[in-house]
Amino acid sequence: MNADYDVVVIGGGMVGTTLACALGDSDLKVAVVEAHPAEMEWADDSVDMRCSAITAASQQIFTNLGAWDAIVAMRASPFREMQVWDAEGNGAIHFDSADIAQDTLGHIVENRVIQAALIQRINDFDNVALLCPEMLEDQDTSGELVKLTLKERGEITTRLIVGADGANSRVRQHAGIETHGWSYHQHGIVSMIRTELPHQETAWQRFMPGGPLAFLPLNNGCCSIVWSTSPEHAEALLAMDDEAFMAALSYASEQRLGNVIEVGPRAAFPLKRQHAATYIGNHLALIGDAAHAIHPLAGQGVNLGLLDAAALTEVLLDAQAKNKNIAATHILRRYERWRKGDNLMMMTAMDGFKKLFGSDNLPLKWLRNEGLTIADKLPPLKNQIMLHAMGYKGDLPALARHAAV
Ligand SMILES: Cc1cc2nc3c(=O)[nH]c(=O)nc-3n(C[C@H](O)[C@H](O)[C@H](O)COP(=O)(O)OP(=O)(O)OC[C@H]3O[C@@H](n4cnc5c(N)ncnc54)[C@H](O)[C@@H]3O)c2cc1C
Repeated sequence: MNADYDVVVIGGGMVGTTLACALGDSDLKVAVVEAHPAEMEWADDSVDMRCSAITAASQQIFTNLGAWDAIVAMRASPFREMQVWDAEGNGAIHFDSADIAQDTLGHIVENRVIQAALIQRINDFDNVALLCPEMLEDQDTSGELVKLTLKERGEITTRLIVGADGANSRVRQHAGIETHGWSYHQHGIVSMIRTELPHQETAWQRFMPGGPLAFLPLNNGCCSIVWSTSPEHAEALLAMDDEAFMAALSYASEQRLGNVIEVGPRAAFPLKRQHAATYIGNHLALIGDAAHAIHPLAGQGVNLGLLDAAALTEVLLDAQAKNKNIAATHILRRYERWRKGDNLMMMTAMDGFKKLFGSDNLPLKWLRNEGLTIADKLPPLKNQIMLHAMGYKGDLPALARHAAV
């Protein structure tokens, strides 16, 4: 039986488009189904509210996919140092890329920039079709071929369906895959700001009892912010006029960069931990937020999803090269085994940080302040933390390694 496609990726966000590019120029016929057309052009002086801290490993993936130069041409802002401090005490830690002989710790990139660069790349591949705007309405994975019902185009068939459709994944729900997790009872407020003092290409993060506040440097002199706080406080912050919001931000950041003097539009996102019970099903795989959602405090969410896409690519292309069935459960299981443990470890670490820094418990407060102060004086430990945060640890897929392609 011939299918219309070998792989249909539902969701053309940053993770789904990465998988599609990674399968570009292979002998697999691929389609990406995306509900909303991506923004491809914007005014030079505008900044997307949503930015991501991109690790060196993710940068390598984009480089190997031929998308990094386009990302840099649009805007990628390096950060070379990181200052983290505890609002309740004097614990602080400073990371410097020079200490591990690296030029940067990572880059802050607008989500729309990543997506536009990847979509430009998709258009270069004859074997990849972008079906957009288009919505997955239904899926039947019970037969030898997967039948998908799309809102506009009706029924199509594929050998493998990949859910890259975000935290509320329809693919996952249709497949009856459960998730484990909980709400953090926090919302993440994002915006773009300008401060009195220069950001010094440094990421600044203050841990407060209500949640962390991060100032992430952009190369137009502004900072992208993520302020995680209770839903009630988030609502109050969103309701403030610009003057009051800037004053609240200046106070919350202890004016480390002076006063906040300009602010863009604001939005809030509910934060939750969510992990799919399994990443695979009959002729089906989940990647990115469809498989796992984590707290943004260390900016790792999309980076984990990009590693999923790179690992799944490697597994599928290896199977294809050996004339094996790419959708067979034992093949997909390789992908799940590869990524699930690493993702779980990162989620657990984020939970630990969240609990440690949100605690009012006096011995814990003392411990975290002492811990930060001691860790700051231990270069080998700090270097290991930096290498982890840059994505250089664990079993990296070839696309994320320097020597790839
Ligand atoms: C406040 C905040 C700050 C963050 N900061 C960082 C950071 O600094 N670094 C980092 O690594 N991560 C960060 N993250 C996490 C990161 O944003 C997510 O991990 C990432 O966006 C997930 O990408 P994705 O492609 O898996 O899913 P999504 O971005 O959710 O994309 C899913 C896509 O699927 C499409 N879709 C959904 N359903 C259908 C359907 N039925 N049919 C067709 N299309 C469909 C949607 O339109 C969407 O385009 C942050 C998250 C938040 C909330």
